[in-house]
Amino acid sequence: MYKNYKYVLEKYSGSKSRFNCPNCKRKEFTRYKNIETNEYLPYEYGICNRMIKCGYKKYPSQKINSNLEEVNHNHLEIIEYLDKKILYKFENSNLKNPLFIFLKLYFDEIKVQQIFELYQVKTEKYYENYLTVFPQLDQDFNLRALKKMRYNSQTGKRNKSFFQWYNPNKNNLKQCLFGLHILNEPIFLESKIVIVESEKTAILGMLYFENYLFLATGGMMNLTLERLEPLQGKEIILMPDLSPINAKKSAFDYWKNKAVRIAKEISCSISISTLLEEYSSDFQKENQYDLGDFIIENLINSKT
Ligand SMILES: [Zn+2]
Repeated sequence: MYKNYKYVLEKYSGSKSRFNCPNCKRKEFTRYKNIETNEYLPYEYGICNRMIKCGYKKYPSQKINSNLEEVNHNHLEIIEYLDKKILYKFENSNLKNPLFIFLKLYFDEIKVQQIFELYQVKTEKYYENYLTVFPQLDQDFNLRALKKMRYNSQTGKRNKSFFQWYNPNKNNLKQCLFGLHILNEPIFLESKIVIVESEKTAILGMLYFENYLFLATGGMMNLTLERLEPLQGKEIILMPDLSPINAKKSAFDYWKNKAVRIAKEISCSISISTLLEEYSSDFQKENQYDLGDFIIENLINSKT
């Protein structure tokens, strides 16, 4: 796709493809290469990935290549963020949050509260009901998106006909993994990362297991290179939802193929868990169970 350009920003291929930024000195600097000779341009030409915090960029001159602006344009997409003040405008407690009420049936209330705080999950009054609000905070604590869902406080199931994004008329919002900001917590620095599809399952995983950090994509199709890029150097385990046996495309195969491609681009270890595939019944596959469903079933069975 770069055939027409003489210089391109070096494609990411692990930490050796990133350099110390001439301005902020962080190892976040992407350099230009001559595509014919594969040689770097002088050090000063490149872009710091910390676009908001640093902003250093220097392009090779227009005379060198008149098409360059187009290349730069692709790489210099500015991400817009939401105003974090919104996080303080929700209910000041989660006690009426239906998901919170449900989880309290099976887990210690203080622990549920801690996990809600860790993920910054909020509660919003909605007519006579309450919504569960999942923020997407990135590794720099920028607020990328807010997703609102309705849960049944007795079954923990989501009302699938309801779904809302907080949309403040911004054009360049970009989602990130749910829970990404937790990477900064010292106790999770060394943790293996489990990636699941749903936010609720990430929370259930954190409540049920120890020693893992659970992140959620928010959907099968959201497992992308872009979203996983901040997980460089991490050990990642993917755990997609089950798919019906006769499904044309299973989530497992889709994530497995994605994992192979992502592993080529970023330096991390990615594996895919076969646990659910192996230990599930046809009924559970047909109903597309996920790890969260297994956790809940297990808790119900151990209660009775
Ligand atoms: Zn910089």
